[in-house]
Amino acid sequence: MTNASTEPAAEQWEAAVAAVRALGGDAEVQLICHVSPDGDALGSMLGFGLGLRRLGFTRVRATFPGEFRVPTPYADLPGMDLLVPESEAYTAPALVLVFDVAAESRLGGLADRVVAAPVSVLLDHHASNTGFGTIRLVDPRAAATSVLAEQFVARLGVPLDAEIAECFYVALATDTGSFKFDVTTVAVHELAARLIATGLRPGDISRRIFDTRPFGAMKLAGEVLGRAELEPAAAGGRGLVWTYATLADLARHDQPPYVLDTLIDPVRSVAEADVTVLVKQVAEGEWAVSLRSKGAVDVSRLAMSQGGGGHRLAAGFTGYGEPGDVVDTVRRLLDDYLN
Ligand code: 5GP
Ligand code: MN
Repeated sequence: MTNASTEPAAEQWEAAVAAVRALGGDAEVQLICHVSPDGDALGSMLGFGLGLRRLGFTRVRATFPGEFRVPTPYADLPGMDLLVPESEAYTAPALVLVFDVAAESRLGGLADRVVAAPVSVLLDHHASNTGFGTIRLVDPRAAATSVLAEQFVARLGVPLDAEIAECFYVALATDTGSFKFDVTTVAVHELAARLIATGLRPGDISRRIFDTRPFGAMKLAGEVLGRAELEPAAAGGRGLVWTYATLADLARHDQPPYVLDTLIDPVRSVAEADVTVLVKQVAEGEWAVSLRSKGAVDVSRLAMSQGGGGHRLAAGFTGYGEPGDVVDTVRRLLDDYLN
């Protein structure tokens, strides 16, 4: 896949700003992020929602499809009062804004809302973005969707304050792996500096978001990591490491699904493998598959071939059958990819 496009074109920015400016303060504005929202989805959406509020918009709602459950680490994000369950989303909003959504499939039952909206603005940074919505602010090189949301807020003339900044910072820290990934450019650090300058305490935020989990989550992690398998010959000799977690594992430890979201990080630290797979059960015979590569494999291509998507080194798709079936599929995709 070529990655020639970078920043959104000037006309797209102008159209997006004009779409907001065209509305009265009492217009209904619906913000939507992806199913099973992460820090970037929630942070970019809520930070932008707070920005609209600062502009005087009184009817702003934020939502995501599926079960209305916010991962505990994000439950105290500023702007959380904007968030409503999918069932309470505006039915015919004047403007829809979509955050961190690579494909319409990630919008669940809210996809129709986007299609029906007179204007829909897409803010995203996935290379695999399928291109929907009427105005597209998509930059595959942006470290997080919050990079685009912050630019949008600035173009609307809203100054950063500590609440907006905390949302964008959480989003940025999440998607850069706490400023560790290759996407962590000079511009990312400059943005982080501007956000921190509003009075944020990065240590407190990091502890709350990344370093606080229930005891049961740690015990569960111990089991899931303990059953990991290393296949040094897989992925053309570059190595594959994989493990899985079932709904029964979650139930046994009385844990919500979000505690599995970061579990791929210790797995992908394995030196003997380029490719990491974490297979997480979502229903009987259905699994959310997380893929990571250290550089040898464009895992977004593997994921896209299965109807999923993501970034070059971090992607995902929905798999079916047993965990072993899913890993068989990944092995086969890797063989095809590398040959
Ligand atoms: P994670 O493995 O952390 O859930 O996701 C890694 C990346 O892949 C994220 O950018 C996420 O948005 C994307 N991703 C994960 N699962 C899916 C999926 O089923 N479909 C699409 N389109 N993207 C996914
Ligand atoms: Mn993101």
